[in-house]
Amino acid sequence: MNQQPIFFEPVFKERIWGGTALRDQFGYDIPSEQTGECWAISAHPNGQSVVKSGEWKGWTLDQLWKDRRELFGGMEGEKFPLLTKILDANHDLSVQVHPDDQYAQTHENGELGKTECWYIIDCEKDAEMIFGHTAKTKEELVRMIEEGRWDDLLQRVKIKLGDFYYVPSGTIHALCKGTLVLETQQNSDTTYRVYDYDRTDDNGNKRELHLEKAIDVITVPHTATKVEPKTEEKQGATITTYVQAPYFSVYKWSVNGIFRVTRDKPFLLCSVLSGSGKLKTAQGEHPFKKGDHFLIPATIDTFEISGETNIIVSHV
Ligand code: ZN
Repeated sequence: MNQQPIFFEPVFKERIWGGTALRDQFGYDIPSEQTGECWAISAHPNGQSVVKSGEWKGWTLDQLWKDRRELFGGMEGEKFPLLTKILDANHDLSVQVHPDDQYAQTHENGELGKTECWYIIDCEKDAEMIFGHTAKTKEELVRMIEEGRWDDLLQRVKIKLGDFYYVPSGTIHALCKGTLVLETQQNSDTTYRVYDYDRTDDNGNKRELHLEKAIDVITVPHTATKVEPKTEEKQGATITTYVQAPYFSVYKWSVNGIFRVTRDKPFLLCSVLSGSGKLKTAQGEHPFKKGDHFLIPATIDTFEISGETNIIVSHV
């Protein structure tokens, strides 16, 4: 069996809130000065990752999922379950909420729900984000929305580099300006916009809100909190565990030397946040560097990572 890690070409999305951090920090060839999202590992129809090199060069992740299921340990499921992105919030994003699987299934044509999580790669000093709300009951939530009491309703938290937030479906949230984030999420593109700061475009139009659906899905009272990670020293690496949850688990491997891994999940998704190194399997070596994203398939049972590098790793 071919034991190659699978490297992907990122897909970029221009957004009104985007900037140039994806080029400035990662050296990506972005399409404009308002680039908001890098879809790094994606099998979603709105932005498909394409394999960069090797045996599967030119295949999309979705094709691999459909026709080469052995690469994913024969896992079941119609859709590839995860989506990895980097988001450059150069301006405030609108305040939003995502549905769970059940609600999305019924109201969004069989889409998946969206639970997500964020690793803060970089942010301005005193940066904040919106995470949760203050309403105690659904009635209070509706009343505060109707009365436009956004400052009372929305909870702001201070963030810093290296923070990690787990954002279950139903959580009100928004990235604020000056934040660069690695997002791991369910493979879904369904967002309900709750509040857009009454901003208008050049023609004086506001962006559409989806208040009715948002009110249906917002968790009341708000419960999610910042994640307190656990760290563990291994030979050649420090492992930080952020979340082990039903939809995904997320870790950081801070490698300094040679780190040997036995794969015990169907596949692993890796995003290189800093430094560079090599991934070595029984069949050969594969160099990688900051900004690379790759999948370790089920055909690789054991491997070594060497170098000085920080990698965000996720699996289902
Ligand atoms: Zn979101």
